[in-house]
Amino acid sequence: MPSRFAESRSRISDLTLDEAFQTAKKLFEDLSFGYATDWKSEQQNRRIVGFLPIYVPREILHALDMLPVGLFGAGDKIPVVRGDAYFQSYICHLPRTVIEMALNDSLKDFDAFLFPAICDVIRNLSGIFQLTYKDKLVRFLDFPQNFQSAVGGVFYRHELERLAADLGALNGKSLSTDALNHSIGLYNQNRALLKDLSNFRSSYPHKLSAADHYLILRAGQVMTVEHHNAYVERILELLPSVEAIEADKIRVVVSGSFCEQPPLGLIRTVENAGCYIVDDDFQLGLKWTEGDIPDKTEDPVGALVNAYLNNSTFSSAVYDGDNPKEISLERQVREHRADGVIFCAPSFCDPALLDRPILEKAMERKHIRHIGFQYHENLGQFHVVKEQAGTFADMIKLWD
Ligand code: SF4
Repeated sequence: MPSRFAESRSRISDLTLDEAFQTAKKLFEDLSFGYATDWKSEQQNRRIVGFLPIYVPREILHALDMLPVGLFGAGDKIPVVRGDAYFQSYICHLPRTVIEMALNDSLKDFDAFLFPAICDVIRNLSGIFQLTYKDKLVRFLDFPQNFQSAVGGVFYRHELERLAADLGALNGKSLSTDALNHSIGLYNQNRALLKDLSNFRSSYPHKLSAADHYLILRAGQVMTVEHHNAYVERILELLPSVEAIEADKIRVVVSGSFCEQPPLGLIRTVENAGCYIVDDDFQLGLKWTEGDIPDKTEDPVGALVNAYLNNSTFSSAVYDGDNPKEISLERQVREHRADGVIFCAPSFCDPALLDRPILEKAMERKHIRHIGFQYHENLGQFHVVKEQAGTFADMIKLWD
């Protein structure tokens, strides 16, 4: 009997756009991770590896026959009962629903968890997971702060090799050059497809809403990369025939939502209030590397290291060295012909909120309009956001 999600993997080529969005929505709402569990049950050596935002080198996991699954909390889909007891009140919401899912057994089929070094909250959460899951691999994944290959590069290679060895011990596999090259090729294809999708949204935001764009990307945090590639390819085939009239809205870049995710309702509210979101950092990890990574090399681990050092995108959660993020944000605004920036960060998110004054000042120097607000993943009332975004849109339309 086909598993619950196997069907969605087998009949991509005749999906309609509506069905494609329904698939993404189903995956988004499934907090029991049925897709991953089904995938794992099909072969004995398969393993599921959950990871927290923003980025992990998924190529390594794929090459070891593991499914990387992004953990972004539960939004407003579960009440936080026990999760609150683990954290003080003045931190963001994401870790509360993540730990709640751990305690209510939503993550029981996962074999390992990776916690990328982005802030103290994630670091502390990794400690709580170590105490909660004594029988599973829980790894804190550190990233270099020094971008010279002889310093940060050596460190990061060591980190990746250790990661591959620890993961490989879970299913008895070791990382082979051929397998890793193959995986790198698949993820190159995935990033290229997502770039096409992002370009389509930027050119025709009336044909692909930010909420639908978000769900398509979010599906990539649980689907196999092969499946997601075929899925996005099919959507790209269908999108040009969408009939929709462009509305009189401003174009905005949304920045600061790289970790805890804004509720879908918030994304829709911003667009309904008169702002086309033409670019954002909601699912930043999927497009962390800019451009292709060499996939026919004798040293694919080295290729991943170089890509991290030299071709990473920008985020407030990452030390930017000689590559100031305010310049990258300004470039993003120009590239997408945006009229302004909406700084939209989770409440109590240190990385995003500490950077915000720097980014705001930089936008002012360049005469780029901006507003800012905060959210938490289970926010249910959007009228303040609607008023702010609507006023912002009107102000730019009337006076710019
Ligand atoms: S939302 Fe911000 S503070 Fe919270 S875990 Fe993510 S990066 Fe850290």
